[in-house]
Amino acid sequence: MSVVQNLASDFVSAVRSASTVLIGTHLNPDGDALGSARAVSHYLDGIGVANEVLCHHMPPRNLRFLPGVSRIRQTPKEEKYDLGIVVDLDSLERLGSTEPFFASCERTIFIDHHVPHDAPGDIRIVDTAAPATAVILARLFIELGVEITPEIATCLIAGIVTDTGSFRFRNTTPESLSLAARLLEQGGDITQVSEQVFQSKPISSARLLGFALERMNLACDDQLCWSVLLHEDFEQNHAVDEDTEGFVNELLSIETVQISALFREPKRGKVRCSIRSRGDYDVSAVARIFGGGGHKNAAGCTFDGPVNEAVDRLVAELKLCLESS
Ligand code: 5GP
Ligand code: MN
Repeated sequence: MSVVQNLASDFVSAVRSASTVLIGTHLNPDGDALGSARAVSHYLDGIGVANEVLCHHMPPRNLRFLPGVSRIRQTPKEEKYDLGIVVDLDSLERLGSTEPFFASCERTIFIDHHVPHDAPGDIRIVDTAAPATAVILARLFIELGVEITPEIATCLIAGIVTDTGSFRFRNTTPESLSLAARLLEQGGDITQVSEQVFQSKPISSARLLGFALERMNLACDDQLCWSVLLHEDFEQNHAVDEDTEGFVNELLSIETVQISALFREPKRGKVRCSIRSRGDYDVSAVARIFGGGGHKNAAGCTFDGPVNEAVDRLVAELKLCLESS
């Protein structure tokens, strides 16, 4: 039996016995984080359970089309909630400033597909083989016979399309395609999702991509590629970190490149790094060395201090990862 089949009845009894539910997801939320959180919220609305979605950061521009996204808050309205449901998250730290509100919930359910970090939660519906948290939710809703409204379908498609890179990444499975087909039948709008998620860049983003490509570095017979965006680049282009979404995949799209990394300093003194890989190169293990995490082929971490130091430290480990695999 799958984890969804095993835990579906625990999930539903926890939800049915709660009168208030707090839904959470990770910092720097992406389409899977917000799509999954909003899908859970629409489901709870449908069965008449009061709920609220919290996120440390406000939704990025390209996800503001998600149904109900304007209801997402950074602090809760109520003092206490019976149940917390946290989606697309492997470590409590990634809840950011919203963590204490979940810590005070009587029970918490975690629904996730990351490599487990500290395995929090009373009920854990976790499948690291699932391409997206939205896939686990689609399975759960189907298992429970939930009525999948067009709103829920669009939210779940946003999660699947984001995390599979529009069904191009290695994690794309026959199941993810058939679930997406089913969600389209339920009225999910994949055209809107694709246009908003992938084709609605601000000009500042296109300019930053130019810098990132110009400053590209290659090593290890062109198998390792990284680039850097400095704080000045963000300032001069009036850009924010979300404008760099997808750049690391551009670096990985080069024929020879097996591992790519993008370092950026949107806020001075804090260096964010996104890492991607092909095949068996496990970049989540490298990210974990620096307190980050993620998936085998897509991970990230944050460094305090100067950019060049972060680059030296991470690149040295990425070279080892390439050489030892
Ligand atoms: P991205 O590069 O798109 O920000 O993140 C890629 C993947 O790595 C996502 O699944 C994200 O959740 C995970 N990730 C990114 N940064 C961190 C981090 O600092 N800590 C952990 N645990 N996971 C991260
Ligand atoms: Mn995800």
